Amino acid sequence: MKERCDHIIKGGRIVCMDAGFRVLEDHFILVRDGLIQDILALDRLKDYKAQSVVDATGCLVIPALINAHSHLPMTYFRGLADDLPLDRWLSEYIWPLEAKLVDADFVYDASLHGAAEMLKNGICLSNDMYFHSDMIAKACSRAGMRVIVSTAVIAPDFAGDPALYEAKMLELEDFCRDLPLAECALAPHALYTCSEKLLKACAGYALKHDWRLHTHLSETRLELEDCLKAHGKRPLDYLADLGFLEARCMFAHGVWLSGEECRRLGASNSAVAICTDSNLKLASGFAPLKSMMEHGVRFAMGTDGVASNNNLDLLEELSTTAKLHKALNGDPLFLPAREAFAHVTIEAARALGMEDTLGSLEPGKAADLCLVDIQNLPSSPCYNPYSQLVYSMGSHQMRDVMVAGKFAVRDYQLVNLDESELIEQADEFMRKIQREMQK
Ligand SMILES: [Zn+2]
Repeated sequence: MKERCDHIIKGGRIVCMDAGFRVLEDHFILVRDGLIQDILALDRLKDYKAQSVVDATGCLVIPALINAHSHLPMTYFRGLADDLPLDRWLSEYIWPLEAKLVDADFVYDASLHGAAEMLKNGICLSNDMYFHSDMIAKACSRAGMRVIVSTAVIAPDFAGDPALYEAKMLELEDFCRDLPLAECALAPHALYTCSEKLLKACAGYALKHDWRLHTHLSETRLELEDCLKAHGKRPLDYLADLGFLEARCMFAHGVWLSGEECRRLGASNSAVAICTDSNLKLASGFAPLKSMMEHGVRFAMGTDGVASNNNLDLLEELSTTAKLHKALNGDPLFLPAREAFAHVTIEAARALGMEDTLGSLEPGKAADLCLVDIQNLPSSPCYNPYSQLVYSMGSHQMRDVMVAGKFAVRDYQLVNLDESELIEQADEFMRKIQREMQK
């Protein structure tokens, strides 16, 4: 009698990203009820039958990627205002347009587009921050992608009363209960847009409700200088003294962290989402990766919003980060390929406190995986899968993407969404934005 399961993925090279960094050949993966039931040698295949058997010959089978910092709805702002410093880019373009255009429909449509792009790039989970978070959760769930949604809050919101933000987040938490792929977190936008009262309250709510925190930190030199002037402390020290390190916080950017700040971070449960492409494009600088690693800071990689990247491509982020930091440290041995790849898979899961369920291919973990086609010129010959993934492969090689045991991309096509419709809708919004900018 054969044992039943939902999917069998057979053959290929299975890049487990488990503690032993095993790469298995002549094996198959059993998927059942959204989980990896087992990974077995091919001679056991005869004992099982499945609704679908997927042939992974000529592919790498990898854990799906985790994006540690994004703003999904900003996908509709791609290329709208480039080549500017962060403060002018925000105050002259992004914030005025957001004030005029951002409503629930905009957020839903743009998030759908962003989720589709992420899925096609092999991303199974994004740690997002924006407004109308319920719409982001709804859009990602429709696309078949996991998301941690956090409603960004700035000081004037909710009439300066943090308790109203807490109430709003409780509503969001309720809303997400019916969406198995969505979770929520608190997001005071940044220390320069939030009052001390609001920041302190958020740290307190995170502990009270066991919510994650998500905020921007030390992105620019200006932020560091202003913080020193206003508070007499460096940014992380300022937030740590308000209680942020007692909670679990994902700090986006961390470009201007000092060695002492890295030491404090390394001793905490918090983590940094480094956003290399965004920092390069806005000329903000580079996260001090060497110091972060020396102090044991957990870190993952984030695309940031499309408006400052200008895509949602983690493999590209990975390649740029690995090469940039070798050059900055004058050391070709720094951040080798296997270690770098861990920071978009198992280490990214650890940075979010989700390593028990995500980030590697192991029995009992979620069936979140990608089949990457390596039967092509740029991927041949494949001596070392990690080298391929970090230095030569493109995200367009993601053939199939499975999230929670369901295919969201199959044979390069979105399963739950119509790609041409998404492109048409984005063009429609572009025309609306252009009309708005001419006023
Ligand atoms: Zn950001």
